[in-house]
Amino acid sequence: MLRRPVISEAAKQLHEDCLVFDLHCDTLLNQSLLGYDVTKRHTNRLPLSPFLFHADIPRMKEGGIGAVALGLVVNPLRKRSALDATRRALGQVRGWEQSAPDDVSLVSTADDIEAARAAGKLAVFGGLEGAHGLGGHVEPLPELRAKGLRYVGLSHFSKNLACTPALGWRSNNVDPLTDHGRDLIDGLCHERILVDLAHINKPGFLEAATRATRPVIVSHTGVRGAHDVWRNIDDDQLRAVADTGGVVCIIFAPVFLSAGLRGTCDGVVKHIQHVINTVGEDHVGIGTDLDGFVVPPKDFPDISHMPRLTHLMLEAGMKEQTIRKALGANMLRTFREVCG
Ligand SMILES: [Zn+2]
Repeated sequence: MLRRPVISEAAKQLHEDCLVFDLHCDTLLNQSLLGYDVTKRHTNRLPLSPFLFHADIPRMKEGGIGAVALGLVVNPLRKRSALDATRRALGQVRGWEQSAPDDVSLVSTADDIEAARAAGKLAVFGGLEGAHGLGGHVEPLPELRAKGLRYVGLSHFSKNLACTPALGWRSNNVDPLTDHGRDLIDGLCHERILVDLAHINKPGFLEAATRATRPVIVSHTGVRGAHDVWRNIDDDQLRAVADTGGVVCIIFAPVFLSAGLRGTCDGVVKHIQHVINTVGEDHVGIGTDLDGFVVPPKDFPDISHMPRLTHLMLEAGMKEQTIRKALGANMLRTFREVCG
């Protein structure tokens, strides 16, 4: 058993004082696959624990999380029923508030996030992972927004009617957005839903960032300047996001952060620093991807350990103001600009 990693008093205090905003957590998968009760505190259980069982409401609160985007994953083989699957997943997000009304608030705006934090509640909303979950439609966006959808990732692991992924079924690094993909970006900007560029190939990524009329995000990614693998984005892509005023959120999956499978949380700090060195401190955030079939860092077995990141950022000599921005202030600013 790993000893509980060190977290200084200064780090604990600073962490508590900051809004911590996780832009991508896949805990809904635990619920749909395993009937997991998110209101109960779980511990990691073998043999699935390296991939799942990383988060629930009690551990999110222990980890000082103020706001979290819950990933909506829709099976790409569903065609006509894709929209219904997305609606059902949004119902699951609402279920968090219904099952724990004293601890969770389903939020619409940046003010709602701040109000939830002031009331000691966890702010939640939905982020769709892949435009296939819209089934080729743009018209339902207002309805889905009203049900809690606040970002749409254009791509996941398969080519869809909007775009091509960086890896997965029919992926390539050539195809641009489709006409539907362009309409979708226009529709998302019009409806004030964030455009998420995680998983998409580079031509689609750059085109989407240029076309969007509001700041864009990458909800969970590493950066090639810190570790050069397919899943990560390069400096051109970083600059394209920064040019929109948006935020790149760093993933907590050592496999994308450093060589070797079980790195530590230092990898997250290294990637945060690369974003800061390349485009400044206003365009970086966090998107853990916990519960998304990723193995978390050795010193970060679950989301309750989030203050560890603050500890390591302080140890790395980062200023309080910079840490505050990376933990959540940048993302809150972008959320306000786009979603209201
Ligand atoms: Zn993902």
